[in-house]
Amino acid sequence: MSSNPVVLITGGGRGIGAATAKLFAKHGYDVCINYKSDQQSAEQVAKEIEKQGVKAHTFQADVADEQQVMAMFAALDSTVSRLDILVNNAAMMKPQMSLLEMDAARINAILSCNVTGAFLCAREAIKRMHKGSIVNVSSGASRTGSANEYLDYAASKGALDTFTIGLAKEIASMGIRVNAVRPGLIYTDMHRDGGEANRVDRLKSKLPLGRGGEADEVAKAIYFLASEHASFTTGSFVDVSGGL
Ligand code: NAP
Repeated sequence: MSSNPVVLITGGGRGIGAATAKLFAKHGYDVCINYKSDQQSAEQVAKEIEKQGVKAHTFQADVADEQQVMAMFAALDSTVSRLDILVNNAAMMKPQMSLLEMDAARINAILSCNVTGAFLCAREAIKRMHKGSIVNVSSGASRTGSANEYLDYAASKGALDTFTIGLAKEIASMGIRVNAVRPGLIYTDMHRDGGEANRVDRLKSKLPLGRGGEADEVAKAIYFLASEHASFTTGSFVDVSGGL
């Protein structure tokens, strides 16, 4: 088995997760890529990463499903010999609507993936870490609330922020740091899933920096928080949202 440090990135097959996977590979990490359904994208990212001389492994699991999370970590145990970093990146949103139109099935699906999924992956990762770091991918939506678009998604990210603060205190004595990035208006497929594929272009002029962000700009902040450059930083947030 390789002796490189190992990172697990949930939702690492596309968007911000894929950019993060490639950046960790550049820094000499072996990369474990979790995906839910898009196996082809995840395998493609793994293939690109292996060209950089590190190992890449893909793991299918719906992070909202505890049994699937347990199976993923069991598979990880037989594939890599250590786990140094977890990036809790997987998340989903549903088409824009007001609270008046939302039903429990929609709200629970979002909370299960974006909140419960992060809790479960952190729980299993911590059991395997000897020191290390967790980076949660939250959202600027936790501060704005996403009125008339997706209160459920924004509230899930508010929960993730609180989880970041509490977990950082709970496991600091184990030498594990926990931080979060809060991206905003990044060019990825997520906006298509939210029902408005060109949302970033519609709103970018409202940002102080006057443009949308790229996935690799978020990846750099995630890498910074996970790395030794942030060795005295825990329970903290980096906003990557063009000044929003
Ligand atoms: P994306 O392009 O839609 O990618 C989402 C990734 O999450 C995909 O790889 C998807 O897997 C995975 N995923 C979704 N549900 C999952 C589940 N239940 N189990 C396992 N994996 C699951 O989104 P993105 O924009 O890169 O988003 C990444 C993170 O950034 C999310 O936490 C998101 O909330 C946050 N964020 C994004 C923006 C933005 O403007 N894009 C802004 C703020 C925050 P498959 O590939 O298998 O479908």
